Amino acid sequence: MPCELKPRFLVLYGSQKGQAQSIAEGIADEAEERGLFADICCLSEGHKVKLSKTKYSPVVFVVSTTGDGDPPDTAQKFVKRIKKKTLPRDLYAHLCYAFLALGDTNYADFCKCGKTIDSRLLDLGAKHFYATGHADDGVGLELVLDPWLEGLWERVSLNETPESVVSERKSVLTTQSGQTEAPPAVVEASLTRSLPPLSELALNIPALPPPYLDVMLQEATIEEETNAPVSKETLHEVPISRAVQLTRDDSVKTALLIEMDISSHPMAYQPGDSLEVLCPNRASEVGELLRRLGLEDQKSNRIQLSLRKETKKKTAQIPSYIPENSTLRYLLTWCLEIRTVPKKAFLRSLVECTGDSGEKRRLQELCSKQGSADYNLYVRDHNLGLLDLLTAFPACQPPLSLLIEHLPKLQPRPYSAASSSLRHPGRLHFVFNVIEFPACAGRPVGRRGLCTGWLSDLVDPILVHPGKAHPGHPHPNCSFRLPSDLSKPFIMIGPGTGVAPFIGFLQQREKEREENPEAEFSETWLFFGCRHRDRDFLFREELQGFVANGTLTHLKVSFSRDTPEGTETQTETRPRYVQHNLLSHAKDIVNLLLKENGYLYVCGDAKNMAKDVNDTLIEMVSAELQLDKLDAMKRLAGLREEKRYLQDIWS
Ligand code: NAP
Repeated sequence: MPCELKPRFLVLYGSQKGQAQSIAEGIADEAEERGLFADICCLSEGHKVKLSKTKYSPVVFVVSTTGDGDPPDTAQKFVKRIKKKTLPRDLYAHLCYAFLALGDTNYADFCKCGKTIDSRLLDLGAKHFYATGHADDGVGLELVLDPWLEGLWERVSLNETPESVVSERKSVLTTQSGQTEAPPAVVEASLTRSLPPLSELALNIPALPPPYLDVMLQEATIEEETNAPVSKETLHEVPISRAVQLTRDDSVKTALLIEMDISSHPMAYQPGDSLEVLCPNRASEVGELLRRLGLEDQKSNRIQLSLRKETKKKTAQIPSYIPENSTLRYLLTWCLEIRTVPKKAFLRSLVECTGDSGEKRRLQELCSKQGSADYNLYVRDHNLGLLDLLTAFPACQPPLSLLIEHLPKLQPRPYSAASSSLRHPGRLHFVFNVIEFPACAGRPVGRRGLCTGWLSDLVDPILVHPGKAHPGHPHPNCSFRLPSDLSKPFIMIGPGTGVAPFIGFLQQREKEREENPEAEFSETWLFFGCRHRDRDFLFREELQGFVANGTLTHLKVSFSRDTPEGTETQTETRPRYVQHNLLSHAKDIVNLLLKENGYLYVCGDAKNMAKDVNDTLIEMVSAELQLDKLDAMKRLAGLREEKRYLQDIWS
C-alpha cells in the first residue's frame, strides 16, 4: 500500500544534547508555517502518541546517537520497546515516515541508534515517504541537513510517493568525513571578501527564522549577581588544593594536573568517570560584547524575557537556563555560549542587523547554499565566534534578543578523573592540555580555549595559590570500569592526556593489590604515546612506580618526535605511535583479548588515534588468527558487544 500523506504532521525526536530537539522543533515550526497541522513529541513520551494506531501522517523522526553508538537517554525505552521480538510484523503498516539520523563519524557506529530504529520500523511494516538522511556532526550536520530538509518539503508538497522511495532502505543523503565540498580555489579570499563568482549568482538563502523573544532591560534593584549558578544538586564550588604542570616549558603543549579538594562535597566517583567543569565566559570578551552591542551602561540591569505576542513558532519558549532576575552581565557570563560558532540561521538573521550593503552581501553568501565551502573554510574550521564576526562586520549590530535565541546554553566541559578515591580520599584529579586557537583570517589574535584557559589562569600563580573551580557531579561512565574479576587481563591505550583515566585505574589496582595480598592478579598493559621522552611523558615517575611494584606488568611508550641520537629524523624502525608498539606485541595482545577474555580500553583522540588503533587491531587479529579482514572486524565487534573493547574518545 503506498504512503498516504495527510496534512497532519508528527515530529518525534530523541535528543541527548538538544541538537535533534532543535532540528525537530524547526521542522514542526516550518510545517505550521506551511499551513500543515504539526505536533512534536520527545520519544520518551512516544507512548502517549500511540504510534501503532496513529492518525498522523507523515511522521518525521529526528534521532541522535551518543557514546559508543548508544541511543540518547530520551530514546532508550522506545528502542527497547520496538526491538521486542514478539511485536506483530505489520504493527506499523499504516505509518508513512521520514527519518533523519544524527551522528558523528569520529566515533564508532555512526548513527547507530537512528539506523536501528529506522530499520526496525521498516521490519514492522512502516514505509518511507522520503529517503533517510544521515547527518555527520564530525563534518557539519548542515551538509546533509540542509538538502535533506529541502527535499522533505518538496516531497511533502508533491505529496507523492514513488514505489522506489517507498521500498528504499538505503540512505542517499550521507556525507562521510573527508567528502565535504572542496575549499574554494581562491586561497587569498578572506572572511569578509566576496568571491567574485558568487556575487554574480542569485543566492539560495534559507528563509529568515522569525524572532520570538522580546527582551526588556530594567534597572536592577538587587545586588548584581557575579557568582556561578552553584546549586547543591548539580554544581559545587570546590577548592583547588594543588596544581602541577606535567610538561616541560619547551613542550609543544602544556598539560596541567589539577587536584580538587572534594572532602566537604558529596561527589563520589570511580576511575573511568568524568567530571564536568562549568567556567564563566571571559570577562574581557563579555565586556567587548557589551560594548559592541552598545549595552555597556546597562550591564547591571535585569533582563526580562517574554514571548512575542505575534510569534507563530509553536515550540517557542523562554530558555529555562536563564534564571529570573539575571543581570545582563550574568546572562553573558554564565548562561550563553558566546564563543560558539554561529550557525547559518544566525548568520541569516545577522544580515538584517547591518546597514552596510557589502556586509549584507557577504553575510548572505556565507549563509547561502553556494557559500557553504566558504562558511566551512572561514567560520566553522577556524572556530570563529560571534565576537570575531562582529569584528569582521563592524556595521553589524544585533539586538540582544537575537543572541538569546541563537546562542546555546553555556555547557560545562568534561574531563576524565585521573585518580582513584581509594588512593586519594577526598581528592579528585583531572588533567588537560591548555588549548590554543591560532590567529587566522577573521581572528587577528590567537586565543586559548575557554575552560582550559580559565583553569590555567586560576592556578597560574600556583601553581602557588589555591583557587576555586565549579565542577558538577562526576558523570558516571558505567561501562568504562576496571574488570571486576581481578584475574582478567586488561590492556589500556591512552596517548597524551588520554592516559588520564588509566592513572585512576592503576591507582585503584595498586590499592586492590595492597588489600588482597593473596589474590592472583592479571597482566596489565599500558600503551602510552607522547612527542618527546623528556618534555611531555605525562606521569612518567608514577607509571614507572606502578611497573616497579608490579601493578603495571607492561609499559610500552612511543615517542613520536624524538630522533635517535646523531640523526635528524624518526627512523622507520622505532615505534612512533601507540599502534606501532601494539603491532610489535600483536601475538600477546590478541591472545590476551581473544583467548584469555581480556579487556581493552582506548582513551584519547577520536578523530585519528582511535581509528588508527582500531585499524591496527583488525590487522593484528586478522594476521594472528588467519582471518580475512571482515571476520577480524566481526571478532572485534563481538568484543564491543561483550563490553570488553571500550572507548572513551573525544573529538
Ligand atoms: P597529543 O599530545 O596531541 O598526542 C599524544 C601523542 O599521540 C603524540 O605523540 C602524537 O604524535 C600522537 N598521535 C598523533 N596522531 C596519532 C595517531 N593517529 N595515532 C596515534 N598517535 C597519534 O594528545 P592530547 O592533546 O593529549 O590529546 C588527547 C586526546 O584525548 C584529546 O582529544 C583529548 O580531548 C582527549 N581526552 C582528554 C581527556 C582529559 O581528561 N583531558 C580525557 C580523555 C580524552 P604527533 O603529534 O607527534 O604526531
